Amino acid sequence: MKDRERVLKRKLLRGAGQAIADFGMIREGDRVMICLSGGKDGYVLLDLLLDLQRRAPVRFELLAVNLDQHLPGFPGEVIPRYLAALGVPFRVVRKDTWSIVKRTLDETETVCALCSRLRRGILYNTAVEEGCTRIALGHHADDLVQTFFLNLFFEGTTRSLPPLWRTGDGRNTVIRPLAYCWESDVAAYAALRDYPIIPNNLCGITKPLERRRMRDLLDGLEREIPNVRHSILAALAKDRFGVPPEEPLDP
Ligand code: SF4
Repeated sequence: MKDRERVLKRKLLRGAGQAIADFGMIREGDRVMICLSGGKDGYVLLDLLLDLQRRAPVRFELLAVNLDQHLPGFPGEVIPRYLAALGVPFRVVRKDTWSIVKRTLDETETVCALCSRLRRGILYNTAVEEGCTRIALGHHADDLVQTFFLNLFFEGTTRSLPPLWRTGDGRNTVIRPLAYCWESDVAAYAALRDYPIIPNNLCGITKPLERRRMRDLLDGLEREIPNVRHSILAALAKDRFGVPPEEPLDP
């Protein structure tokens, strides 16, 4: 492993290890399902969790899951081939949600919401079927900060994406081990690792612009106030990422 790669991995492992410890994300005996869609965040998350699995004081299992939603041109063999070569236990779930989603293509603002809702439902059910006690998602610190601003400006709430969260029906527990890892580090590490990335625009839908606007806003703020993102993330952590006290983070 080259020097730059080693330095980045150490930094990412430190962030993930700290987040896992701060929120008690993984306990002895947990079975952790990692969702891979072919994007950089999922590959990096898997890479880090495999490393932490070898050195963590608690024993836990990993199961990688790829959901094939039948998006046009989705290369269904890429992720299974990568996981098989890595020797990671995995499952591919094939469900044609795209047929449902494309019927709503004229209502562009709801397409992604519907697609995500269908994806989430299938993955949550898969976790139950597989006896997975944790679902690990690849959201990183920038996602958490941007979501906070999106909700503040467009939804009138101060809620973000909590690093540990039990779903309302109590069936699933979601964890976000990259909660303290910044996208720039994740992207730089992914580029060095040369993962088999699958483009995220196969469906041809232009995602809503609001998140891009939040990213630009935060870039501008960061230029004027260096490290402002770190301050915002620290404030969010102190405020339980906006999750009200009656909703337990720690299941
Ligand atoms: S961009 Fe395409 S694949 Fe992604 S959530 Fe929207 S409809 Fe689904």
